[in-house]
Amino acid sequence: MSGRHEKEKGVNVQVLLRCRPFSEEELRSNAPQVVTCNEYNREVAVSQNIAGKHIDRVFTFDKVFGPSAQQKDLYEQAVIPIVNEVLEGFNCTIFAYGQTGTGKTHTMEGECRRSKSGPNGELPPEAGVIPRAVQQIFDTLESQNAEYSVKVTFLELYNEEITDLLAPEEISRVALEDKTKKQLPLMEDGKGGVLVRGLEEEIVTSSSEIFTLIERGSAKRRTAETLLNKQSSRSHSLFSITIHIKEATPEGEELIKCGKLNLVDLAGSENISRSGAREGRAREAGEINKSLLTLGRVINALVEHLGHIPYRDSKLTRLLRDSLGGRTKTCIIATVSPAVHCLEETLSTLDYAHRAKNIKNKPEVNQKMMKSTLIKDLYGEIDRLKAEVYA
Ligand code: ADP
Ligand code: MG
Repeated sequence: MSGRHEKEKGVNVQVLLRCRPFSEEELRSNAPQVVTCNEYNREVAVSQNIAGKHIDRVFTFDKVFGPSAQQKDLYEQAVIPIVNEVLEGFNCTIFAYGQTGTGKTHTMEGECRRSKSGPNGELPPEAGVIPRAVQQIFDTLESQNAEYSVKVTFLELYNEEITDLLAPEEISRVALEDKTKKQLPLMEDGKGGVLVRGLEEEIVTSSSEIFTLIERGSAKRRTAETLLNKQSSRSHSLFSITIHIKEATPEGEELIKCGKLNLVDLAGSENISRSGAREGRAREAGEINKSLLTLGRVINALVEHLGHIPYRDSKLTRLLRDSLGGRTKTCIIATVSPAVHCLEETLSTLDYAHRAKNIKNKPEVNQKMMKSTLIKDLYGEIDRLKAEVYA
């Protein structure tokens, strides 16, 4: 689709479905299978026929990955084109949505550690979307003859509080001991977006530096979990990578392209899917995940073309507003289990994901043309300021 066409008509959010294999426990207990994937037809069938209860439903998605699909398959078929768009200057977001235990973290993070055979060690086969995207970004940038910069942020959203997963150790320790110090405020940036004040933005120059950061961030998520006795199933994590690329045009001018990739591992959807009847009681108990609930309401309002879209009702939707009905290209990976004991949640995930297919975004490239002389002046100014600082 041409860029102009996309801008005028909008592009639908892409929705993929991944069904994990049976776990060892499910295999041991001979759990009946109720989900069947047909990758070729992009269909998922859910059927159950016991005790006079018949369920037979078929859903179609943009892509379907069955239990035998490997991390590499999903990445190559679904994510490579998205990362290429980020390198072209688009903002793209990938959400993992589904019940706890269905493979959201496996899909997004998987195993991040590289083999120890030197700095360019291979990624393990179980590496998920985040490490593979980082690798693809650096491989592409290093093969191009262009100047670039790469920045990453990694945050966790739990109970409407934002924690920085990349904050230096001493700050995190203080934060864990004194809850009031750990929250980072979300502010309007004056340009229609939001920013998280005080969020550590790490400039990185190689993929191995990012892998170290991811390990640090993931470890922090796990430590915080035990210390605060909270469940990872209730928190969202957002890993963002921003790339600036400077290219020279044939006219001798310089073009700055800026692309951003957001990778979101959402809280378990079981926290909201049955909330209708229990909402009042659950809210009192602080059980309801406000961000996940608002995400659902935003999706409904967008799909039904309601005048008011409740972005402002939660931090998650404020942070990712642009990925829902905005200028970002968005992909949702919905994850389900094949087993009968998850049937109700599986149907709820499939309905939710299917509905999200109707959201339209209007992606735009972020690029700025700069005259070489202006850039030279700016570099001159930077050198002058550095000299002043270090004098
Ligand atoms: P979630 O983040 O949705 O709660 P996890 O990613 O932690 O779920 O997955 C739960 C368990 O299932 C983990 O042990 C994970 O390794 C395994 N798992 C999930 N998806 C797959 C898959 N596609 N292939 C193999 N194992 C998987
Ligand atoms: Mg998880």
